[in-house]
Amino acid sequence: MNHPSTYSGRQVVVLGLARSGVSVAKVFHQLGALVVVNDKKERELCPEADELTALGISVICGYHPEDLITEQTALLIKNPGIPYSAPPVEQALKLGVEVITEVEAAYWLSPAPIIGITGSNGKTTTTTLIGKLLESAGMNPIVAGNIGRPLCEAALEASEDQWIVAELSSFQLKGTDAFRPRVALLLNIAETHLDYHGDMDDYVNSKAKIFDNQTEEDAAVINWDDPECRAISSFLTAQQLPFSLYERLETGVYIEPPYERATVAEAADGSAVTRNIVYSFGDGTVHTVLKVDELGIPGRHNAANALAAIAGCLAAGAKPEQLAEPLRSFRGVEHRLEYVRERNGVTFYNDSKATNPVATTMSVQSLSAPVVLVAGGLDRGSDYMELVPLFRDRLKGLVAIGETREKLAKVAELAGLEAVQTVEPSEDAESVLREAVKQAAAMAEPGDIVLLSPACASWDMFASYEQRGRIFKDSAHTL
Ligand code: ADP
Repeated sequence: MNHPSTYSGRQVVVLGLARSGVSVAKVFHQLGALVVVNDKKERELCPEADELTALGISVICGYHPEDLITEQTALLIKNPGIPYSAPPVEQALKLGVEVITEVEAAYWLSPAPIIGITGSNGKTTTTTLIGKLLESAGMNPIVAGNIGRPLCEAALEASEDQWIVAELSSFQLKGTDAFRPRVALLLNIAETHLDYHGDMDDYVNSKAKIFDNQTEEDAAVINWDDPECRAISSFLTAQQLPFSLYERLETGVYIEPPYERATVAEAADGSAVTRNIVYSFGDGTVHTVLKVDELGIPGRHNAANALAAIAGCLAAGAKPEQLAEPLRSFRGVEHRLEYVRERNGVTFYNDSKATNPVATTMSVQSLSAPVVLVAGGLDRGSDYMELVPLFRDRLKGLVAIGETREKLAKVAELAGLEAVQTVEPSEDAESVLREAVKQAAAMAEPGDIVLLSPACASWDMFASYEQRGRIFKDSAHTL
């Protein structure tokens, strides 16, 4: 297998100067490669460049030089967000230069086995939860990947007896080759990121790459309730440990008694049935981990994330009896259905990370009180019609912002919702969101919930979903 040291004395181009780019550039430089880093952004916008230049790494900012990739280039490591149609990537592919993402390089480097987590929704929650579970099982995990800390940095630090817990996006996985996680999780597949992948097949294939190099010694954790994931499962070589909210499994992690598949209207869980999270390894015996109600994170989607995390940890060798306590105490991650405050009997939740309709649907469904929703953001071309039943059955009101505000207002109209407001755009995006929160609070009555769960990315108005979530929280606190 390849190793970064294989590239000693050879030219390696790193495209994109984000944290992962800096980390991978340093690794290859340290191991003797002739590294060139290139970013289209102007130098003033690339503060990381100074650190690399000081190490003697060549950094070119502001444009892609035409001769960046030549016959002499041995490897191109591209930032996952850079499309394959970017000129340097096209050039590399034309010349037969290997193109990878930092994940592949981290895999070459890592002495520790990797648990890889991918899916359209729930990656960060599940990755963070697995980190907590393994920590409390004394397995000393390192959490990294799409979640913040570059994988290469984790791989450099890791030792053989640790686990790297890696959150992986489809963009990262598309640029892998030999990458073989010992435990691979596929949480779900929803229609998202089609602007990057072009079509659903490319997106699904990129996600499924997480399993490509697994052998019978490895474990594949898949969502048995998701038809796309189930279809992939029939092609896998690894041992499978599926999870399900709705079915009893001979081998796998599931709910006992299973949930009934409900329509949106029935999904709020008011039932008095006690449900347990259980697992079975195919020997006919069923073991209980804990009650669903004991989970520290709310909602059925989070129960699915917990099932996946339990399956991943069991596959990695954690003892089942060590899992219950951290599952009770884990309260989730900021901007994911995060409790903000209560004011005049109205509760505010920040779910700014819900950047697609499936995520918003999951969040609204998991709240049992009437919801006044603040939604809208970057327009990626969808018409949001799949939200009609949710709006009809579960919303009390909608305040729409951002590029998609009119589309969402139209969905609300079709759903027969009467309390609908749109806030007109302004240069001052913060004031738009503040106004939206004010209007939502005015629509809500005691016992209701005001929820920011935009169903859209934030980049039409904000630098990130984190910024959007922070402004929402501050607005709610200062009403
Ligand atoms: P990701 O990292 O994949 O974006 P997160 O854990 O950050 O996922 O959760 C983002 C949002 O997606 C949450 O706020 C919630 O609305 C929704 N979500 C979380 N888990 C799931 C799931 N298993 N299925 C559907 N939606 C989910």
